[in-house]
Amino acid sequence: MKGFFGKIGLALALVTAMAVPALAEKTMDTDVAIIGAGTSGLAAAVQALQGGAKVIVLEKQPKVGGTGSFCEGVFAAESKIQKRIGIDVSKSFAFKLIMNYSHWKANGALAKAFVDKSAETIDWLDDLGVKIEYVGVGGFGGPLTWHVIAPGPDLVKDPRDFHCQRMINVFNKYVLDHGGKILLETPGTELITENGKVVGVVAKDKSGEKIRINAKAVVVATGGFANNKEMMKKYVKDYPDVIPVGQIGKDGDGIRMSEAVGASLEGMSTVQAYRPGLAGFHPADQMIALAVQPYFWVTPRGERYTDESSIEYWPYAGNALTRVGGTTYAIYDDATRKFAVEKGIEMPLGEWVLQGTKLTKWEDAFNKELARKRGNVFKANTIEDLAKQLGMDATILKASVEKMNKAAATREDTEFNKQAKFLRPVATPPFYATKLLPRHLGTLGGVKVTAEAEAVNTKGVPIPGLYAVGTDSGGMYGDSYDLLLGGGTAGYAINSGRIAAENALKYAGITK
Ligand SMILES: Cc1cc2nc3c(=O)[nH]c(=O)nc-3n(C[C@H](O)[C@H](O)[C@H](O)COP(=O)(O)OP(=O)(O)OC[C@H]3O[C@@H](n4cnc5c(N)ncnc54)[C@H](O)[C@@H]3O)c2cc1C
Repeated sequence: MKGFFGKIGLALALVTAMAVPALAEKTMDTDVAIIGAGTSGLAAAVQALQGGAKVIVLEKQPKVGGTGSFCEGVFAAESKIQKRIGIDVSKSFAFKLIMNYSHWKANGALAKAFVDKSAETIDWLDDLGVKIEYVGVGGFGGPLTWHVIAPGPDLVKDPRDFHCQRMINVFNKYVLDHGGKILLETPGTELITENGKVVGVVAKDKSGEKIRINAKAVVVATGGFANNKEMMKKYVKDYPDVIPVGQIGKDGDGIRMSEAVGASLEGMSTVQAYRPGLAGFHPADQMIALAVQPYFWVTPRGERYTDESSIEYWPYAGNALTRVGGTTYAIYDDATRKFAVEKGIEMPLGEWVLQGTKLTKWEDAFNKELARKRGNVFKANTIEDLAKQLGMDATILKASVEKMNKAAATREDTEFNKQAKFLRPVATPPFYATKLLPRHLGTLGGVKVTAEAEAVNTKGVPIPGLYAVGTDSGGMYGDSYDLLLGGGTAGYAINSGRIAAENALKYAGITK
């Protein structure tokens, strides 16, 4: 008898042990589960709701938006506003530019689907209440594709109701008003599979409670892996310490979850290279704004290494900097400082510091940083002294300065062919130096997808029920971020989110 009860007891204990987590686990059911409430995730949520689906969006942070809270404008070709004001950027031109820029390493079918949908997406945004203020360029002087989002009527209540934050606000409200659920501080942790299909996601809420969300389809939209040091080291080998701008909690969750269920990855080494700068400084900081003007940059050995006007398309400046080890010193003299303060800067910093802005706050910003003695800025009355402070061989720095001064005098840069208008001498003391390091606006590689945003396995076969979008998906780039067509990453995030939702609804049998 003892043995019998013992066996029953053991069986009960086993049943209890197996049942407890299941009982403790909260369960929710939906049509589409979306992991990440940033640009791509919220666009997918709006599109899925418009198609008649039930939607649950998981968000790791206490608020929605992700990097989408920082961007300004989105790409489109052949939009109504472009046509209305005579901007001629055809879909065919844009597609070819993307593909040629990537040397056809990008996923052609995906790029085509994105470009072809882009103009209609501007109409879609307009219908939702997201208006375009103007159409600008990505890189200085590039094609006009960057549809900058206008302030919304809620600007009085919410001072951030402009640019992409306006769009995030509109998406968020739409989702909540139309029956969608957004679970904040509730990260997705793993995908649930059944017979090779993705049928849901496990999440963890603020209290640590596990939630099982059963879904007909799952969209992964967690915004890449910029904050995951291990993944950066593994994938972004040429410069893993590149400083992330506007990235919080980008731990590669979506990519890792997808990989765990067999998804293949693509383009993992490419980051959205940004203007060189320093960590902890606002993008509009005037000390940085002067340093990144296209004048005279040298390596820690004191050698000039690039045409500084590569900053016009900052991925180029980022690549050149990474190539020489990742540290540059921007050196300028007092005449250049005076020029920037009194006449204004020549190279704009996007919407942050416009061309012609007089850097009247430069002095304060520079002197504050100088007093901190952190090795970021330097000032000297001679080039020899500056070289000493920078730990450079004065002969090398002096030779570089002389070459620069000769180029400025002859109006010809025999070293790197920089346009004459950006040739300025380094001759009037005092001399200033600012350290600059590579920065980026997010990672660009991720889950390999089809043109329908379906995640594929290592054989290229779609994993049923799994979609990856925005910066959780790879395939839009070659080895470098493409700034030729402004608004590419946010534009791709929105369009891929919409494409994923449309196809997920077809897959789930909700639409045809
Ligand atoms: C300063 C700045 C300016 C920019 N300007 C432009 C511009 O003008 N034009 C342009 O095209 N691009 C621009 N970009 C880039 C653009 O904003 C991004 O490429 C785009 O927003 C990425 O969208 P996403 O949906 O992939 O990621 P995000 O918008 O970052 O969304 C990802 C979301 O997933 C959440 N998340 C992470 N892990 C989990 C998890 N486990 N569970 C649930 N949620 C999770 C995150 O918290 C986040 O909310 C800019 C970026 C920066 C930083």
